[in-house]
Amino acid sequence: MRNGSTAPKPEKRSAVQAQAACVCGAVRLEIDVPGVWAWHDHGEASRKAQGCADATYVGSWKSRMRILAGDAHLTRFEDAERRTTRSFCAGCGTPMLYERARSPKIVNIPRALFTSRTGREPRYHMNLGEKPDWAWSGGPLVPLKGYPGVLWERPKRKKPADAIDSLFSAED
Ligand SMILES: [Zn+2]
Repeated sequence: MRNGSTAPKPEKRSAVQAQAACVCGAVRLEIDVPGVWAWHDHGEASRKAQGCADATYVGSWKSRMRILAGDAHLTRFEDAERRTTRSFCAGCGTPMLYERARSPKIVNIPRALFTSRTGREPRYHMNLGEKPDWAWSGGPLVPLKGYPGVLWERPKRKKPADAIDSLFSAED
């Protein structure tokens, strides 16, 4: 032990790793736990790239992320305008890595790919100005009659004057 402590000193690789895999299982990777941070991206680019309302990522130091299998299956898309690179599994299309030029030492990995805890809760939100109006805002849901397992968000009741306006505004 370099510092003279009797406690075992962790090596550069931390004691705990979190593993992630694509849908088909060809690409597997791991990060050292804890990750740097975890965040929700409400921006248009991630929304399209991942096909969802918002994308939740765990950021890891690149030096603390290892591709365990399937490196040859990773296909890269470089977005020159946004200065980002997205890597996905060529076999099943799962988005795997999201790199941004503004944070060159960090690689972002979709939280959904991890099978265990990453040591970071996603408490941060970015690009909220690009959040679409159809994304669920977390409002109350109630069961939909006759469709077990389906919940729905009741439309907000409009004021009578608004309702009448909307009936006529389409043609006027
Ligand atoms: Zn795959």
